Amino acid sequence: MTRLLLIGPPGAGKGTQAVRLSAACGIPAISTGDIFRANVAEETELGLKAKEFMDAGKYVPDSLTNDLVRSRLLEADVEGGFLLDGYPRTTAQVDELDDILAAGGHGDGLDAVVLLVADSDEIVARLTKRAAEQGRSDDTENVIRHRLDVYEEQTAPLIDVYTARELVVTVDGLGSVDDVTERITQALEARGIVLSHA
Ligand code: AMP
Repeated sequence: MTRLLLIGPPGAGKGTQAVRLSAACGIPAISTGDIFRANVAEETELGLKAKEFMDAGKYVPDSLTNDLVRSRLLEADVEGGFLLDGYPRTTAQVDELDDILAAGGHGDGLDAVVLLVADSDEIVARLTKRAAEQGRSDDTENVIRHRLDVYEEQTAPLIDVYTARELVVTVDGLGSVDDVTERITQALEARGIVLSHA
């Protein structure tokens, strides 16, 4: 059972690494951003509500986000573990996740929090490139800057919370995708977490 959280500013490469790590250890990657985007694409009620916040680079309110994660973490495929990408993002969401994991029999919660770091010039360059390639409506320059500010203000404080719990593994997100995956794998192995199928 491996329960991981990937944290880091937008553009640090969380989504890309989440897919690879989840494949490597056979656990589902749960990305709240992907779930919201799928709902926006399908024009569900949740999607319609979330879209206005996402397009403005703001966080979707907890009233919409927490229930979604709670029900996702009750699905059968998370019994062997999971990798959270993009949740929790606020200290209130940390409390909520603690509660969800305790209620779901996950003991003391997460095994490690992988912090992907990258400097802001690199991040803006990557996100601008992604905007051109994928056309995400929240990847315009103004919105990117706002998302970075929101991250600093609301999500960066989580690093202290998880550092106090001795869960944080900091990994440099610069370089090739393969190099970053290798760095994460080694950093986790150093903590006794081996990313391979059971
Ligand atoms: P991401 O793909 O993780 O960058 O998420 C894209 C957008 O979805 C964010 O900018 C937020 O608007 C929204 N979002 C994703 N996860 C959360 C969360 N945990 N809390 C609030 N909003 C979120």
